[in-house]
Amino acid sequence: MKLFKPKRVFIEEGALKYSLAQELDDKFKSQGIPVEYIESHNRLNPKEEMSPTALFNWTKETLVVGVKKTLRFQSCQPSADYRLVTNTSCPAKCEYCYLAKSLGSASYLRVYVNIDEILEAVKKHIKKGEGEIVTFEASSSSDPLAVEHLTGSLQQMIDFFAKEEKGRLRVVSKFAFVDKLLDLDHNNHTKFRFSINSNYVIDSFEHLTASLKERIVAANKIQQAGYPLGFIVAPLMLYEGWKEGYKDMLLNLHKELSSPEDEELSFELIMHRFTTKSKNLIEARFPNTKLTLDKERYQHKGFGKYVYPADEAEELKTFMEDNIKELFPQAKIEYFT
Ligand code: SF4
Repeated sequence: MKLFKPKRVFIEEGALKYSLAQELDDKFKSQGIPVEYIESHNRLNPKEEMSPTALFNWTKETLVVGVKKTLRFQSCQPSADYRLVTNTSCPAKCEYCYLAKSLGSASYLRVYVNIDEILEAVKKHIKKGEGEIVTFEASSSSDPLAVEHLTGSLQQMIDFFAKEEKGRLRVVSKFAFVDKLLDLDHNNHTKFRFSINSNYVIDSFEHLTASLKERIVAANKIQQAGYPLGFIVAPLMLYEGWKEGYKDMLLNLHKELSSPEDEELSFELIMHRFTTKSKNLIEARFPNTKLTLDKERYQHKGFGKYVYPADEAEELKTFMEDNIKELFPQAKIEYFT
């Protein structure tokens, strides 16, 4: 799969005092990509009116280079103690993406160039742990591997956390650009989780992400490089042939991983769900979506939230857990939700 190249770039004026912003400015101009300078990265809109689909596509082709001003981190339970944000949004177009829903029309990609200041703030948050291990999630508002070729921030974070006795980094990705990370001295302080799914779900709904095969190859490289590794299977979907689809996915994983018996392997299992708001947004952006968003077919959990009915959820849970236990008996299933 190709590395992301924006169609247009906006650089916050305040970012230009950082060397990374200057490098990106030069790089994009030399590639003939239009660059404009803006006051703030927070409210960016195209000049002309657009349909929801066109606006969504515009945001996903647009890169903003900015400065992260809020350096007090939010909680990220249950995944980690804190959210560690070095970029926002990602160039992929997963139809169900919760981030694309929460960002609304601000789904454009943002990278923050003040990484040294962000890492200083990490140190302060580690100190607050008073000697306990403090964990940071790098993927709560983006997919860091998708823009690593532009910023190198993930590499810097892995280096940083390797030296922090009490700090741990967690990363999730649907991309496969891991080669530059393999020789880093990570000290087992960064855990990678690859978000995987059946070929049907990836091909139907996860546009512009790496294929299942590419993700598994990348996961194997990460495992061989000694990083702790896990998988998030999300969103688990019920569709015609789902059992074969998920069984194939797990068999492929077992076949391709050099160490399927690794005791550090973990699985997180999350079922498909939607809200009235996300349904409306998805149907506006993807008018031909094959996602099942039929409220009658789901169980209403209150607050406009819809999940699979209890008997179907139980069948899905049992199927996934049984197959994971059979193929990866040492692995930990962290949760099913
Ligand atoms: Fe959203 Fe992740 Fe897909 Fe990017 S890769 S669109 S962040 S679900």
